[in-house]
Amino acid sequence: MENKNLTSNLNVDALFLGPKSENRVFFQEMMDYALREHMHWRADFHPEDAPLVTPVDQHMPDFRNTLYRTEGILRQLSSKLKTTSVPWFSPRYLGHMNADTLMVSNIAYVMTMLYNPNNCAHEASPTTTELEVEVGRDLCTMFGYHPNKSWGHITSGGTVANYEGVWVARNLKTVPLAMAQHPKARDLVAGFSERELLNMSPAAILDLTDELKKRGIFEEVRSLTARGVGVKKGQLGKFLVPMSKHYSWMKAMDVLGIGQENIVPLPVDEHYRTDVAKMREITFRLIEEGTPILGMVSVVGSTEEGSIDHVDEVIRLREECEERYGASFYIHVDAAYGGYVRAMFLDEENRFMEYDELVKRYRAEDIIPAGVAWPKREVYEGFKAMAEVDSITVDPHKVGYVQYAAGAVCMKDKRIVDLISYHAAYVFEECGDDAAEDKKVVLGASIMEGSKAGATAAAVWAAHRLVPLNIAGYGMVIARGIVTADWFHAKLASAEPFVVGHRKFDVRPVMHPDFHMVDFTFKEIGNDCLEDHNRLNKRMYEICSYASGRTYTNDFLTSSTSLASHEYGDTPAIFVRERGFAASEWERVQSVYILRSAVMTHFLRDAQRFEEYWSELRDIFTAKLAQIVEMEEKENEQLAAA
Ligand SMILES: *Cc1c(COP(=O)(O)O)cnc(C)c1O
Repeated sequence: MENKNLTSNLNVDALFLGPKSENRVFFQEMMDYALREHMHWRADFHPEDAPLVTPVDQHMPDFRNTLYRTEGILRQLSSKLKTTSVPWFSPRYLGHMNADTLMVSNIAYVMTMLYNPNNCAHEASPTTTELEVEVGRDLCTMFGYHPNKSWGHITSGGTVANYEGVWVARNLKTVPLAMAQHPKARDLVAGFSERELLNMSPAAILDLTDELKKRGIFEEVRSLTARGVGVKKGQLGKFLVPMSKHYSWMKAMDVLGIGQENIVPLPVDEHYRTDVAKMREITFRLIEEGTPILGMVSVVGSTEEGSIDHVDEVIRLREECEERYGASFYIHVDAAYGGYVRAMFLDEENRFMEYDELVKRYRAEDIIPAGVAWPKREVYEGFKAMAEVDSITVDPHKVGYVQYAAGAVCMKDKRIVDLISYHAAYVFEECGDDAAEDKKVVLGASIMEGSKAGATAAAVWAAHRLVPLNIAGYGMVIARGIVTADWFHAKLASAEPFVVGHRKFDVRPVMHPDFHMVDFTFKEIGNDCLEDHNRLNKRMYEICSYASGRTYTNDFLTSSTSLASHEYGDTPAIFVRERGFAASEWERVQSVYILRSAVMTHFLRDAQRFEEYWSELRDIFTAKLAQIVEMEEKENEQLAAA
């Protein structure tokens, strides 16, 4: 049998330019190649055509002057960029979900950009539209969707992908209502009450659309759905989103006319995952009081905590609602942040590995070493169940290690696209399983956006060809961050206090991460005032971020957030109590300020190197705390003098 162990084929360090531009020779060579090839391409287009700009033209004073000005502007831009850009590439940056990006994507983007394809329409991007369709298939396959029955495409980011999820859910929900309005479709839903029409399952509705297409009335019925007639106040019911929600969900309700007041926030548990018991309770209550549920969102990688929702429990809940009440709803997973982590679970045949088999392989190939407890069972089950949801948001520009702007959305059943499409409905129908035809699609007529860079499709496509979406590809890259995050968490959990003069500070993590987001806070030992704690951490953020005005010269950069009761209920009270504050402090302040580090860097996955990094980081933290103490003392002096 052929040896399937391909992991040795991919060297993670060879994927990136590197924090010291270590791979500069190769990078430059390939960039030059991209430029040279493009220039040849132009020149070779009808070689019989004479050049239209001559050396004489090029020596005219205003010509020279225009080039000087061009150069001046570019030098100015470069200087601006170098002064204030954030050094994502360095392991000294542990903040938002940013790290070094793949060389292959950087070069593919620049290479393609020169040809300027527009993926709005196949005729403006014969090459890159096909790459985008391929990328969509890659992602659908990673999520466990059937490659020929599903549909995925690139968006500008997770925000627009989430909009598209709501868009299809909204239009789908109104198909049964529209059918009841149409004389030639009415019989298909005869005897259904409005409530029953609004509680049909996504799969059942899509099957009905097949019948509408057969009868030749699909377009007529489609124009009677929300896309044609709009949405009546509150008619479609509630949209359930975890409290940890990204604010794109608020925007989505606004933009798509559902209304923000129709969001029902789902409380989170002590792991900042959707609280399953409360989710069930709220869902049953809504159904029992007769309120339809438009959709439910599960988050795979919450933006602030990196928590992975129990997607399997959401699937189970829907099945239960269908059986008990005949009430169903749409399920969307917002995996903008954590979507690519699903590659960690797939073998080279895209099979979702059994838990024990997975752990065995992690150990055998030193992907996740012993001592790092990953994945937790619940996290494993959450990722596994993604194959069963209706649609998924994922951002290549986050854990796909591709530069901006690259998001994506995947739909389990591609028939759903006909509900938002401005094509005649047969486009996907006729193509069936014919991959070649599918690729000629006019994307602009089937997605939210219009004109868009074909270069993005090329960048993501190139990434996927080099780094497969399985354990031997992205799994290897992502595992480095997961392991480092676990080590970082362990150091924070056991760190000795930092001593500044007669004052002592300790640091502690908020919780163990579900993959690679580590949240933590500093606290002065002996302090029992939560506001002082919050002020200390806010100052820490300010001097460890662009807010210091010293981005390029800073020793360490991170991000931060507030966990407040209006978004998280009393969940943060657990950490506040663990941190030694009285319950009354949480009651009074209702918010805890934390530092937030997405550990995506692949450079620290070496025990020795990590020890050195941590020891340096301790010194940096001590120096930063000393800086804050000094600032406070100055302020106190000024107060006393005033
Ligand atoms: C980042 C993020 C988004 C938004 O994605 P953009 O690419 O910034 O538009 C949505 N949801 C979650 C959970 C995210 O982390």
